[in-house]
Amino acid sequence: MTSSTNQFLKPITTKVNDAGNLEIGGCDLVELADKYGTPLYVIDEKTLRAVCNDYKNAFAKYPKTRMMYASKALCVCAISKILSEEGFGFDTVSAGEIYTVYKAGVDMSNVLFNGNNKSYDELSLALDLGVGRISVDNFLELALLNEIAHSKNKTVDILLRITPGIECHTHEYIQTGHLDSKFGFDLTQIDDAVELVLNEYKNLKIHGLHAHIGSQIFETSIYPDEIEILVRELARLDEKFGLKLDEINIGGGIGVKYTEKDVPPSIYDIGSIVIQKLEEAVKKYNVDYPTLFLEPGRSIISTSGVTLYTVGSSKQVPHGKKYVAVDGGMADNPRPSMYQAEYVAEVANKKDNAEMEKVTVAGRFCESGDVLIPEIELPKLDEGDILCVYNTGAYNYSMASNYNKVSKPAMVLVNNSQSDIIINRETLDDLIANEVIPDRLAK
Ligand SMILES: *Cc1c(COP(=O)(O)O)cnc(C)c1O
Repeated sequence: MTSSTNQFLKPITTKVNDAGNLEIGGCDLVELADKYGTPLYVIDEKTLRAVCNDYKNAFAKYPKTRMMYASKALCVCAISKILSEEGFGFDTVSAGEIYTVYKAGVDMSNVLFNGNNKSYDELSLALDLGVGRISVDNFLELALLNEIAHSKNKTVDILLRITPGIECHTHEYIQTGHLDSKFGFDLTQIDDAVELVLNEYKNLKIHGLHAHIGSQIFETSIYPDEIEILVRELARLDEKFGLKLDEINIGGGIGVKYTEKDVPPSIYDIGSIVIQKLEEAVKKYNVDYPTLFLEPGRSIISTSGVTLYTVGSSKQVPHGKKYVAVDGGMADNPRPSMYQAEYVAEVANKKDNAEMEKVTVAGRFCESGDVLIPEIELPKLDEGDILCVYNTGAYNYSMASNYNKVSKPAMVLVNNSQSDIIINRETLDDLIANEVIPDRLAK
């Protein structure tokens, strides 16, 4: 089977240049660190576009496929612009994400709004900005959305988010499709939801069903199981209510390669498995071919991103570990401390003859749990060395915080030896921009 870009550990343009330094997108990483400072998020445009092409080619045989990038993995105007150019729509989960893609100038009819507790204001914004689909998660939201739509004299196009009752072998926190998940209508609640929409909520129009099983999935069997249930439900709802739904959304979740031992599936494999299963199910249940929505997040952006750090202090525990501290950590990448996520790093500057040693790469934040990599073999590190941590494109910046009141890093986009800032580094003034001292304290 053809391999796909999510199966690589590093951006596809990664190499060692003539100076002996690591380079990505034709840019020397040591020079990037020097020019923009560290920590620095770097996104390789070639890798990002290569993944987009993998998805498009893998699903080319099913022209009714619509790719919706799950923005929560990394929601930035410039990235949205690239994905929009590549023909992707957007899965969004908050007013902030909707506003970001809107500001990036994307076609809002190609945006879906998803989430288990959307607020009145968020739903209202979604309608005002012309978001194309709302994936309704629960009964409260059905009522709320109908009320808002009614007040604006609009009809809203919706999907129903369902919990198909499928488990996948990923970390418990990133599973979402099992029966006691907080997301979506249980299979036994779908009929009540449909009846309400058909009989009472006249400002809502259902187009289809939506499910999402989990994240960082390596098993390919999840998707056929999901399609079986979704198509079966389309047929059942048609029979019971005469309701013709023609859209299914199978969510995202395809895994990436964080370390050598990770073997994520090829997007081409997923494509042929999904299409084959869809054809089978359509025949079995005698329904029309539905529009197929996919919502990949991690597998789109993760491999394109790396984070550069500068090495600082180190500590050899007597008869114990050697800690090497970098100038970032859990605030720019919370994944290791949150769910023991593993990463691989390399030294970006020339280290030809350095002897190797086993170290723990620690962050700079005031938590013992702030360790980026618990154990890794690296050339003996000195203060000022530049460390490149791979596969940080997804769920790093988007989960970043200002813990310890540290500024969020800058992000640069690299391509053809050119680097451009796409997010400025936060300044000290940015950090207190929203703070107010009440007059009575100012006296
Ligand atoms: C998080 C999420 C995705 C994206 O998941 P990835 O693992 O990043 O591909 C897609 N759809 C929904 C509904 C999600 O919540």
